[in-house]
Amino acid sequence: MSAISVERVLDVCGALLAADQQDMVWGHAGVRDPDGRGVWIKRSGVAFDELTAADVHLVGWDGTLVEGEGRPHIESFIHLEIMRVRPDVTTSIHSHPAAVNAFSALDEPLRAISHEGVLFVDPQIPRSPLSGDLIADSSRGAALAAALGQARACLMPRHGLVAVGADDAAATMTAVLLDRACALHLAARAAGDIRSYSDSEEIIAKTAHVWPKSQLDAGYDYLLRKAGRRA
Ligand SMILES: [Zn+2]
Repeated sequence: MSAISVERVLDVCGALLAADQQDMVWGHAGVRDPDGRGVWIKRSGVAFDELTAADVHLVGWDGTLVEGEGRPHIESFIHLEIMRVRPDVTTSIHSHPAAVNAFSALDEPLRAISHEGVLFVDPQIPRSPLSGDLIADSSRGAALAAALGQARACLMPRHGLVAVGADDAAATMTAVLLDRACALHLAARAAGDIRSYSDSEEIIAKTAHVWPKSQLDAGYDYLLRKAGRRA
């Protein structure tokens, strides 16, 4: 039992809950096993606000249960196949935020109309070309990982998002900030044409000044406090 990995999954799920990124019992977070055996993921059938340590288990690279109890998420292959080809990723998140799906349905470029957006527009966040169906086997997982490439997140049209990071804070804040960036784009577009958004120069400056690692960590630490996972 990797107690640290289990606590990390509980942290990420708690932070996502605190950021209102829960979709009943769907959506999941994965943390790479430090011994290379697979990915620690919450089990199927429980919501973020119901989780205990017993609900987190280790899924091996072939998608079968290695440690713990319960049924693995059918979409565990999202985490497994991304981490197989992205050694830099230790944390991955798959969720279905309404704003992300609504934005993806527009099939237009995301505009950086706030701080959040600059992380996803230069280059534009990739979009999975897969159908909106579940990622229920290793070949669809590998195709999603290919669509993600080296990006921090990928839109999954008609389904949701995947967000990754070198640590829990980066992955979690990426998922949270992408949701907010999509919601803001939708709000502006619903009110009229989007005329003012960051250009390349402003994107580079704001990425460096607004989103250094210290600020991603600060946002994540706040979400952990809000979730009651930290004092
Ligand atoms: Zn899904």
